[in-house]
Amino acid sequence: MVYAPIRPDRSLPPVSVNLFSDTQTRPSAAMKDAMMRAEMGDEQNGDDPTVNALCDRMAALTGKQAAMFLPTGTMCNQISILVHCRPGDEILAHESAHIVANEGGGPGALAGAVVLGLRGARGLFDSAAVTAALREKRRNAPPQTLLAVEQTTNAGGGAVWPLDRLTDVLTTAHDAGLKTHMDGARLMNAVVAAGVTARDMAGDCDSVWLDFTKGLGAPLGAVLCGSESFIDEAWRWKQRLGGSLRQAGICAAACLYALDHNVDRLTLDHANARLLARDLAQIPGLAVEQPETNLVFFDTGGTGLSADGLVRLVRQDGVSLSVVGPNRVRACTHLDIDAADVAAAARAVSRAIHFSLANTG
Ligand SMILES: *Cc1c(COP(=O)(O)O)cnc(C)c1O
Repeated sequence: MVYAPIRPDRSLPPVSVNLFSDTQTRPSAAMKDAMMRAEMGDEQNGDDPTVNALCDRMAALTGKQAAMFLPTGTMCNQISILVHCRPGDEILAHESAHIVANEGGGPGALAGAVVLGLRGARGLFDSAAVTAALREKRRNAPPQTLLAVEQTTNAGGGAVWPLDRLTDVLTTAHDAGLKTHMDGARLMNAVVAAGVTARDMAGDCDSVWLDFTKGLGAPLGAVLCGSESFIDEAWRWKQRLGGSLRQAGICAAACLYALDHNVDRLTLDHANARLLARDLAQIPGLAVEQPETNLVFFDTGGTGLSADGLVRLVRQDGVSLSVVGPNRVRACTHLDIDAADVAAAARAVSRAIHFSLANTG
């Protein structure tokens, strides 16, 4: 089995406009200052004051009793599944969910759970889809124990779950005896886009987490929130998986800095995403999805170029985009991208398409 190497190609020019992912931001000087000043202790022992402050703040923000600091969002998802599910249990989630496509088969490998993929536009589904997926409780059916949603949807195009639809879906799941989990990797993008508090967004979920490396500018860190008893159980898994930390306050300080300085400004990323979508939509042959947050998805099918072909061409111009399907490309705006950058990116895409048309005649 050969996997594509993940190494920078030295023959390419440096990246000048990085729309590949909102995870590729560098900590700012001010964030690094905050990290240098962090008070620290043994996190595993509950003695790191900065981690404790971050957890208290996140529990309050999401309206939960308790919270836990983890290195990554993937660990937040996997630990939540380990707490909520037993081997053989079934999880209901959108078929394009991160837990389905991007976590190495973690639900099966770690918890022994299977995921039943639900369908719906833009990574969303509705309570009718949940009802249709519910199984009669039979001895030979897998116990359905968890429903998971992504706020915002990643592969779904950065869509925001509207609060009423979300409430409907979570209520349907709870009424059927399922627990509910919110993959809130980009929860704050949803909060600023919808003008709904994180507390209201996450209120009905049994577990929820936020990633500090998705557009919030921190080098690492995610916080998982839930009831006292959920976080208690989660600690056992954190320990088992090797996710218990030592002087993690140096990282938690970056997350606290992000909460203070990098949340409200997400509206700028959303505005830049709309600018990018508007400029791309002018290019003949491109089908651009209207962004709701900071992710812009477009289809190259009408241009004669594959997603890979287009992404390679614009990379020659210093613009980095990601390939998410044969003809599907993703561009992410974030705090290292401004309006001039998105204009430059759109020009590069336009040039690439003209170049390819000129050469295929
Ligand atoms: C990025 C992402 C994750 C995983 O977070 P990491 O911090 O990269 O492990 C999970 N879910 C969604 C929706 C994401 O976008």
